[in-house]
Amino acid sequence: MALSTRIGRIEIIAICDFIPPPAPPTEPFPDVPIEAWEPYRESSLTEDGLYPRNYGVFVLRSDDFTAIVDTGLGPGPHASQNGVEGKLLENLAAVGVQPSDVECVINTHIHPDHVGWNIVDGKPTFSRARYSLSRVDWEHWTGQADIAGHVRDNAVPLEDLGVLDLVEDDQELLIGVRTLGTPGHTPGHQSILIESGGQAAVITGDVLHTPAQFQEPGWSFRADIDKERAIASRKMLIERAIADRLTVAAGHLRYDGNIGHIVELDGKRYWRVRTD
Ligand SMILES: [Zn+2]
Repeated sequence: MALSTRIGRIEIIAICDFIPPPAPPTEPFPDVPIEAWEPYRESSLTEDGLYPRNYGVFVLRSDDFTAIVDTGLGPGPHASQNGVEGKLLENLAAVGVQPSDVECVINTHIHPDHVGWNIVDGKPTFSRARYSLSRVDWEHWTGQADIAGHVRDNAVPLEDLGVLDLVEDDQELLIGVRTLGTPGHTPGHQSILIESGGQAAVITGDVLHTPAQFQEPGWSFRADIDKERAIASRKMLIERAIADRLTVAAGHLRYDGNIGHIVELDGKRYWRVRTD
């Protein structure tokens, strides 16, 4: 049973594309010495002291629309060179979502593990959908002399197919769904704010990679392109999530607990999985 929650009229469902084996924490966080993880072993590491990995995406479903935020690693070369094949489509079917049900695909940023299922064999996987990408990220990734494989395969064709919408920060994409600029991990990285019925949530993309970062926002993930900006975005998002009591959905947190709240107790920040 997939973890899901409801924000007013909008249901958020956590879907997994792929769960790779856990890794030593110094792999994703090379600047963080292993001893520094000690206080966060229980919240953030496996029993063996490893970093649990997950390539997660989120479905947004209401009476008005079905949307998906990020599309995982996909079936393409990036996944297979890592020895994996994403299971997104099977896992969507398990919650009653067919690719043709999806009207809007939102990529938080253009990294291989977030755009993997956008296109398969040159065709959009989500055949009826418009695809939203950050304009800043698009210009960054497509403006390079040597365009990366995942950009060439899973972003550029969207333009030729006529299904691409380049979006700005703070832009409404659907009723109750808007972008929130959180640059740093990539130049145009966007989180997704969901507001409905007086409740609110945020899908954080790659602003957050471990619950330890709630207390240690200065910890940089290996792939953060501009570490200082990423830290500033992370701090902003954490403060806002606490102040506004946002439900937080973070696709790289452990699959069975990646929707929750950041709570503050005695001056320390903790992750509380949402269980409804
Ligand atoms: Zn990622």
